Amino acid sequence: MRFEAIIGHEKIGAKLRAGVQNGRVAHAQLFNGPEGSGTLALALAYARYLHCQEPTPQDACGTCISCKQYDSLQHPDLHWSFPFFKKESSDQSTTQPFQNAWRERVLADPYFGLEEWLSAIGADKKQLFISVQEALELNRKLGLKSFQGGWKVLILWLPETMRVDTANKMLKLIEEPTQNTVMLFVSEQASQLLATIRSRVQMIQVARLSDEQAAVGMHQRYGIDEDQAEQRAHVTEGNIAAAMRMQHAGGAEVERDLFIAWMRSCYAQETPAVVALADDFAKPGREAMKRFLLYALHMVRQCIVGNYGAQSLVRLTVPERKFAEKFAPFIHHGNAIEIQQLLENAHHDIAGNVNGKLVFLDLSARVSLLLRKPA
Ligand SMILES: [Zn+2]
Repeated sequence: MRFEAIIGHEKIGAKLRAGVQNGRVAHAQLFNGPEGSGTLALALAYARYLHCQEPTPQDACGTCISCKQYDSLQHPDLHWSFPFFKKESSDQSTTQPFQNAWRERVLADPYFGLEEWLSAIGADKKQLFISVQEALELNRKLGLKSFQGGWKVLILWLPETMRVDTANKMLKLIEEPTQNTVMLFVSEQASQLLATIRSRVQMIQVARLSDEQAAVGMHQRYGIDEDQAEQRAHVTEGNIAAAMRMQHAGGAEVERDLFIAWMRSCYAQETPAVVALADDFAKPGREAMKRFLLYALHMVRQCIVGNYGAQSLVRLTVPERKFAEKFAPFIHHGNAIEIQQLLENAHHDIAGNVNGKLVFLDLSARVSLLLRKPA
């Protein structure tokens, strides 16, 4: 990953490179941005730039020995850490057994989220974390001399999954850094980190991509048809990881069909149908439930936009539009805000590990009532 391959964020890239050129490299930096914004891609391009033997003001050269090692992520002074789980067969609790899977995942594409990582290591429903033993191992690795005489770079993905005791061990490394060490933390929710860590790192805020940036990026990077890229970018609010997830899952068809069936059953107050749909909702796991709720929120918002006559702003596929034409009249000023709020609350509950079926059934009962409320 070089800077030229990054979607958007030109200013951040330029600032990072200027820092290296001027000899200003903070030893602990935190890239904070939402999933799919490209934080990991930025950190990786920056690490490559730090190690490149002949960088230009625009980018790493792409041809030196270091750059070649980066092409296969085999640079000996580039270290990775990330959330993982302890394998039952293993007596150690470090990222070691997962390093190859991690390299493959990053090489395939650094625009991925926790969901892709979970499935890459077959951990679909496990809670991942970064262990104390891993932090000790990082202390040891970064305490060694660098192999090639330059920087030792650590990229640590999702530091918010560190437990408090782990975070404290990392804090020591941040406060008393070993020589020539640069630690790059890549976070989706820096607010969940210990304040003592947040206050000791240089924060690089990475904003979500605009719908347009994400759409253009998806078209150029993955060759996705322009209209489709635009629609996916819009539904996912510029989240490349979520948009590609949707693309790989055969588009939003699964979500769409579930949403249509669900709204019909809610309106008709068909309790047995709603109960059956609760299974479909909960079965694919937490990330899929969150995705569905975001999709539902998107559909409801599109109905509102359409109701206000702003048809040009409506981003729907043809089958979605067909459904929305019939469904939109049931979303009106008397219930629109409450329905959106309920969907957001449900998303929050699912993210907080509340039982999916219960959330869905409760949500369905409330939405049923609201849908039957007169305009
Ligand atoms: Zn180079």
